[in-house]
Amino acid sequence: MADKGLDPEDWAETRAEAHRMLEAALDQVQQAADRPWQPVPDDIDARYAVRPEAGGPQAAVERIIQDVLPYHGGNTHPRFWGWVQGSGLASDLIASVAAAALNANMGGRDHGANYMERAVVEWTRAKMGMPESANGLLVTGTSQATVIAFQAARLRVLKSLRKTGQGNARLMVYAGDGVHNATMKAVELLGIGSDNLRRVPLVAGQMDCSALAEMVAADRAAGALPFLVVGTAGSVDLGLFDDLHALADAAADLGLWLHVDGAFGAWTRIAEEPWRSLSDGIGRADSIALDFHKWMYVGYDCGMALLRHEHEHRAAFAARPSYLEGAERGLAGGEPWFCDYGIDLSRGNRALKVWTALETYGETAFAQAITDNCKLAAFMAAEVEAQPLMALGAPVVSNVCVFTARSDLDAQGQSEVNARVVQSLQECGDAVFSTTRADGRVMLRAAIANHRSRAEDVRAAIAAVAREAVT
Ligand SMILES: *Cc1c(COP(=O)(O)O)cnc(C)c1O
Repeated sequence: MADKGLDPEDWAETRAEAHRMLEAALDQVQQAADRPWQPVPDDIDARYAVRPEAGGPQAAVERIIQDVLPYHGGNTHPRFWGWVQGSGLASDLIASVAAAALNANMGGRDHGANYMERAVVEWTRAKMGMPESANGLLVTGTSQATVIAFQAARLRVLKSLRKTGQGNARLMVYAGDGVHNATMKAVELLGIGSDNLRRVPLVAGQMDCSALAEMVAADRAAGALPFLVVGTAGSVDLGLFDDLHALADAAADLGLWLHVDGAFGAWTRIAEEPWRSLSDGIGRADSIALDFHKWMYVGYDCGMALLRHEHEHRAAFAARPSYLEGAERGLAGGEPWFCDYGIDLSRGNRALKVWTALETYGETAFAQAITDNCKLAAFMAAEVEAQPLMALGAPVVSNVCVFTARSDLDAQGQSEVNARVVQSLQECGDAVFSTTRADGRVMLRAAIANHRSRAEDVRAAIAAVAREAVT
C-alpha cells in the first residue's frame, strides 16, 4: 500500500470492480423504465456515513450498487415530467469514463479537451444563429450562464466596473412577468438589487414591448440607468416564448443589451415547425443562456453562456496574473483559455459528454426527440381534455402542459386534490408531475424534456391522475 499510495495495489481487482460498476450503470440506464423514483430509506444517513477504514474497491462498488443507485432523482424514468429535468443518455456513461481517465482541467493550456469545447461552442453558436464573432463557455447551467452574461452586459455601460464597482449607478433590468428566478438571483448577486428588476407585463404570453419602452423612458427620466432586457425562450411555468424579433428591435431602439433565457426552449431551434419558429430571432441576442442537461438530455451538469461579441465576453473576465502567463509553445500555449471567459479557473470537462452524445446519435436524433416531446405535450393536453373532470390551466405552446385534475371543485378544493395527486403518483412510482399555480390554484405541471417518454406513458399517467383524483 505504502509504495503505491493512492493508486491501486491490485489493478486486477480494480479492473474487475470497475467492470462490475459499469455493468450496473448500464443496467440502471437500460432498465430505466423499471426503476422509478422511490423515497430514500430512513437510515440513508447511516448508510452514507464516511468510514474511518479503507474498504477497497470491492466494498465501494458494493455500497454504490446497494445504497446509491436505487435512490436516484427519478428523472431517468419515462414518466418523469416534473420541474424541467433532462433524462440522461447512455452515451454519458461512455463519456464520463473517458472524462474521468483524462481528468482534464479546462481552465486553459494546450490539450485536446479545450479544442473539443471550442467545437461544441461552435456547433451551438451555429445552431442558435449567432455570428462568428460570438463566443461561448460551458458552465454548470443557465443560472451561472446568466451571471456571466449580465456581468458582460453591465460592463458595456459601466466601463470601469471591474476597478471601481457599480458605485451609485442605478442599473435597471427588464424581464417579462414569469421570468425564471435565475435572473433574480443574478441581479441580486451582482449587486444590482432585485428592486431594480422590472417585471414587464405579458400580452398573449409575450413581453409587451410598448410597456417596456414606457418603463425604460420613465426610469431614464428618474435618473436610473436601464441597460438590460431579458427575453425568455421557454418560460419555466408554461413554456411560453417572447417574440424575440420584436425584443431585438426594442432592445436596439432602447439601447439595451438583450439577453435570452433559453434554458430549455433555445433547443426549439433544431425542432420541426411549428415549434422551431417559437425561437426565431434568438440569434440576434447579445447573450443566450441555455442548458444541455435539460432538453438536450445530456447528464448533469451542463449549460452554456453564449455571447455575441468575443471581445465583450473577454473584457468582463480576462485576468492573467504571472502564475497563469501563457506561452508561445508547450503546455502553457493553447490560447484562448476558458478561464478568461468566466468565473472558474479550474473547470471540469463538460464538452466530452455533449460531443459524445452528438457523435453517437447525430443531431437529427435530438431534433426528433425535441419535436416528439412537443407532440407529446399536445397529446397530453388532448388526453386531459378528453377526461370529464380535468381541464387545462393554459394552452400548450411547447413542451409544458399545466392542468387541473378536478375542474368541478372550487379553487381550494382543486388545489388540495392536485397537490395530493402529485404526491401520491410520485410515491407509488406511477408518474412524476410537479405543481405550479395558475389561475389562483395549484395545478399539475408536466415539462416534457424526456426522450424516453411515449404516448402510452402519457395515456397511463393521465389515467392514474383520473384514478387518484376521485379517491
Ligand atoms: C432551469 C431553468 C433555469 C435555471 O437553469 P439551471 O440549469 O437549473 O441553472 C433558468 N431559466 C429557465 C427558463 C429554466 O427552465
